[in-house]
Amino acid sequence: MTNIDRLIGLRNEIPPEVQIVAVSKFKATSEIQNLHEGAGQRIFGENRAQELATKAAQLPKSIEWHFIGHLQSNKVKTVVQVASMIQSVDSYRLLLEINKEASKAGKVQDCLLQIYIAKEESKFGFSEEELAQILNDNAFHNLQHIRIRGLMGMATFTDNWQLVASEFGFLRKQFEQLKNGIYSHCESFGILSMGMTDDYRIAIDEGSNMVRIGSGIFGAR
Ligand SMILES: *Cc1c(COP(=O)(O)O)cnc(C)c1O
Repeated sequence: MTNIDRLIGLRNEIPPEVQIVAVSKFKATSEIQNLHEGAGQRIFGENRAQELATKAAQLPKSIEWHFIGHLQSNKVKTVVQVASMIQSVDSYRLLLEINKEASKAGKVQDCLLQIYIAKEESKFGFSEEELAQILNDNAFHNLQHIRIRGLMGMATFTDNWQLVASEFGFLRKQFEQLKNGIYSHCESFGILSMGMTDDYRIAIDEGSNMVRIGSGIFGAR
């Protein structure tokens, strides 16, 4: 099976309204180019700022890059220059930095708020309380160079699929609350990014409309 075969298999399986982010971290630019030109894959995900910048410089501008890794303040400028979306916004401080760099770059940066849903210390994201706090803060809504497009989350790394489903269900509930509440007049708010190679089926059952697939396309890392 080639990468293209695996991607096409996924597309045939996944409902058409669910977008696929091809997670290309550690993969060569030639493999990305091949999927982009050979199968029309448009969205690719990277989790390291420098790797993203290097690849973006070498590959066609028609690719949309999503940044999906934990982002440090000193790397924000690099990412803002090339990312169409930052999926992994996990603190208010980071939002302020993104707003500042996007302003300098003369763009409005599309972002997802990453929500902490796993039972794992190692994962990042806003807690329910932190999310409520920033949503109640006028300063947050006045960031002129940030556009919040939706939410992202990562479930616990486990084969306890009931736990995974309940974590995704929890994220979906928060998403629906925002979509029908504070963002109800916001056409652009509508992305729920959840699900990876091992759990995308569960994520889609729980309402995901964007999956981030690495090894399921490129083979094991
Ligand atoms: C690596 C990564 C993925 C893809 O993981 P696979 O298990 O290879 O599909 C998805 N999301 C994030 C945030 C990642 O870092």
